[in-house]
Amino acid sequence: NARLFLIAQAPGEVEDNKGNMFLGPSGKVLDKLLSAAGISRDEIYMTNLIKCHLPKNRKPKHDEIEACHQYLDQEINSIKPAFLIPMGHYATRYLLQKFDRKIPSKHEFYKLYGSLLYIQKQKIYPVQHPAAPLHDDSLQSVLEKNYNRLSVFSQPCKWAASCPMKHYYEQGLLDEKWRELYCFGDWKSCIRYQKEEKNEYHQDWMLPDGTLDKRLK
Ligand code: SF4
Repeated sequence: NARLFLIAQAPGEVEDNKGNMFLGPSGKVLDKLLSAAGISRDEIYMTNLIKCHLPKNRKPKHDEIEACHQYLDQEINSIKPAFLIPMGHYATRYLLQKFDRKIPSKHEFYKLYGSLLYIQKQKIYPVQHPAAPLHDDSLQSVLEKNYNRLSVFSQPCKWAASCPMKHYYEQGLLDEKWRELYCFGDWKSCIRYQKEEKNEYHQDWMLPDGTLDKRLK
């Protein structure tokens, strides 16, 4: 039961022959990114949207995605991961379609990378494909930043079991998205968490994004 479920586009020729993922240059980039985040390959589940090598590593066609996505869907249903992490355009685009989310325009699409989404009770965290900095090394730092957040996602907030947000949720006063996006998601960006770490006072009815919800008072 992997918490982090990474989805790449398609295997390369070597990967297809050996039946393993990310064996070439982009695999080296991925290993460095994971290692910097303190995560080993053993802790994550990795798969592809397209299950066979595409000639000259070309982009997948619509009918190829149609033919293959059922296998990915079966893997998702079986693993039930906390986070789906599509790497690159096609895996991200497929998940948005699968979860009935509008697909941004070509110019806006990149904004999805590094954004934690919560759609139909599923957390989705699109990131750039590890091959991206091999074509444009100016992307290296943004990939490092985005993959580094996986270390946060690999475990829940240490306060999740005792935080007042849990009690508000159990009383039906709080939408579950707050708990999923912060307590079991990006807890390091939670303002409550940051204040706890600095021993700073905060109201019990402060939401994870720092806004005060008087309904919880
Ligand atoms: S609200 Fe913030 S501090 Fe409380 S459990 Fe969630 S992430 Fe942690």
